[in-house]
Amino acid sequence: MMLRLTPPADAAARRGAKPVVVYPVGTLSKPDITALEAIRQTMVKQNEVIVPPRDARTFRLKKGQFFRIVCMEGAQVGDLNLWNSHDLTERFFSGKTRALHATHVSTGDRLWSTMPYLRPMATISHDTLGWYGWDEDGAGVHDVIGTRCDPYTNRLLNGSDYDRCCHSNLARALATELRSTPGAVEHHIHDVLNVFMCTGYTKDSHQYFMKASPVRAGDFIEFFAEIDLLGALSACPGGDCSATHSSEVAACYPLKIEIFEPNPVSIAHWSWPSPSAYHRGHGAPGKETR
Ligand SMILES: [Zn+2]
Repeated sequence: MMLRLTPPADAAARRGAKPVVVYPVGTLSKPDITALEAIRQTMVKQNEVIVPPRDARTFRLKKGQFFRIVCMEGAQVGDLNLWNSHDLTERFFSGKTRALHATHVSTGDRLWSTMPYLRPMATISHDTLGWYGWDEDGAGVHDVIGTRCDPYTNRLLNGSDYDRCCHSNLARALATELRSTPGAVEHHIHDVLNVFMCTGYTKDSHQYFMKASPVRAGDFIEFFAEIDLLGALSACPGGDCSATHSSEVAACYPLKIEIFEPNPVSIAHWSWPSPSAYHRGHGAPGKETR
């Protein structure tokens, strides 16, 4: 509960300051969507992975390939993690993606990697829910404002243990991929892209809320890999996230990951992202180079 204080005499003037977009993206290099659309036209499906409900699976892509996350049977939310397949310290940076784009992402937006790399890992090349925009509650689809459901927060709030939260699902899947144990690899699990999840902040209290996902069987979101990727996707125990999560209560459905290969000629002129060129000296004496 916020402590109510008497506002100062100039409170209205202070509140009247004009908002300025923190990162005006006019200077951010944009993906060539026209070229990407032409590349899409050449792609052929290579492989698919089924993610069972309340579980997760990993998948690998070479740069230049595409992957789709497909709603198969019923409305289902997916929690996505991405890493550089050669170096797991470079991973998806939800917070900076939110700052550079918006609270929710769609076609043309990019999934950025952590510092000191800070480059696009993947570009969203198609989104069948792109029509949703912002609804009357201020909600949108595919958010980068949530984190992921996890057993630690569940224990904090409910005093019980549940082993099928997205964090645990992702940790189990990564452990299988790396031939390790969930406990030994869970530090690699990071804030997700909440695929198909419909969320926002309440207007009165600015709290994170969720509502039934508008996704239906056949809907998909598609990504173009800008670097070699290891991905992991959890089919959230919240199902369509209309009511509850972190339990066995919600109806849950599988998700499908489809991997596509474009004609190599079509990607010959794509400009692949390099890690940030910042020198990493951070103002200390001497100069570090990467
Ligand atoms: Zn979840």
